[in-house]
Amino acid sequence: MKTMSQVPFVDLKGQYESLKGEILPAIEKVLDSCAFILGPEVAAFEKEFAEYVGTKHAIAVNTGTSALHVALEAAGVGPGDEVISVPMTFVATTAAIVYCGARTVLVDVDPVTHTMNPALVEAAITPHTKAIIPVHLYGQPADLGPIQEICRKHNLILLEDACQAHGAEYKGQRCGSLGHMGAFSFYPGKNLGAYGDSGLAVTNDDELARKMRMLRDWGCEKKYHHELSGYNYRMDNIQGAILRIKLRHLEKWTEARRAHAAFYDQHLKGLNLEFVPQKDYARHVYHLYPILVENRDQVMRTLAEEGVQSGIHYPIPVHLQPAYANLGYKEGDFPVSESIARRTMSLPMFPEMTQEQAQRVVDAVKKAVK
Ligand SMILES: *Cc1c(COP(=O)(O)O)cnc(C)c1O
Repeated sequence: MKTMSQVPFVDLKGQYESLKGEILPAIEKVLDSCAFILGPEVAAFEKEFAEYVGTKHAIAVNTGTSALHVALEAAGVGPGDEVISVPMTFVATTAAIVYCGARTVLVDVDPVTHTMNPALVEAAITPHTKAIIPVHLYGQPADLGPIQEICRKHNLILLEDACQAHGAEYKGQRCGSLGHMGAFSFYPGKNLGAYGDSGLAVTNDDELARKMRMLRDWGCEKKYHHELSGYNYRMDNIQGAILRIKLRHLEKWTEARRAHAAFYDQHLKGLNLEFVPQKDYARHVYHLYPILVENRDQVMRTLAEEGVQSGIHYPIPVHLQPAYANLGYKEGDFPVSESIARRTMSLPMFPEMTQEQAQRVVDAVKKAVK
């Protein structure tokens, strides 16, 4: 069998090698200080990330899921409330709603962007609706303008799931800064990834920020004075130090992702497949680059034979997951999401991808779909 170098789906090792000289001394400094939880690196990262997004506050937590959870709780979402979101996302979006004891109400996504279809939202609003969570899927903002309008009209909280959208923009404004709150994940594979789990919530609202800050650390502002029933959702100081370093590289990495995506767009146009175009309103940051094909198994097999890794994000929409059967939905309820889930597959996408690797991906896809 001929051996062939693989085009990986992502290359965390390549990125680490390029940063090692900056990362290791920063970790050593934290270890020497013995300030392990929250701490000065986390505080500095919060300040720098808030500046990057363009919000007044950033609250560092231990995961993106926790960021969504404290945001909803700070807004007063609880049992008896409904929160509107989408089936075409990672399950964490719904999990955070479940953690609050609230009910998830789903609306289908747009067939072109795969993000929340604003035209479907108003029909899903009831007297119990408290918040809306659009997901900036793959790194492209949902169409936030009409959703902001609906939130204003019905007095609803707008929480952006920006866990895939670090640095993405809607009409020139950074994702996370357009709603009442925004949630980010720094899971290692995300566009800005820690070396472990981490997340963060942003807001311009002083009171929401104060509550989220308390909720992440046992409901305290003052140690051992528990004002709220809170959680242990704190970020490690080591992750803060690593994220500060990586944040300084993020724009360069994002531009590299955008260049790879433009190359894919150009060469996949006209083939027997669909891809998700960048909308006029968007700066898309391409956490993922999915294509839709009818014979996915076959296409993925051909790519694998050509040494090109691929993934599926996501094979099963939230409403068809056994864990969320109690939401009461069934197959056929969200035909657009179901059709995407049946056909979607993600191509390699990471900043360090070479031109030669991108060309190999394009050649393999051409061979697979012809
Ligand atoms: C990654 C992700 C999350 C959850 O983030 P974690 O840090 O893994 O908890 C939530 N929503 C979306 C859309 C994500 O991609």
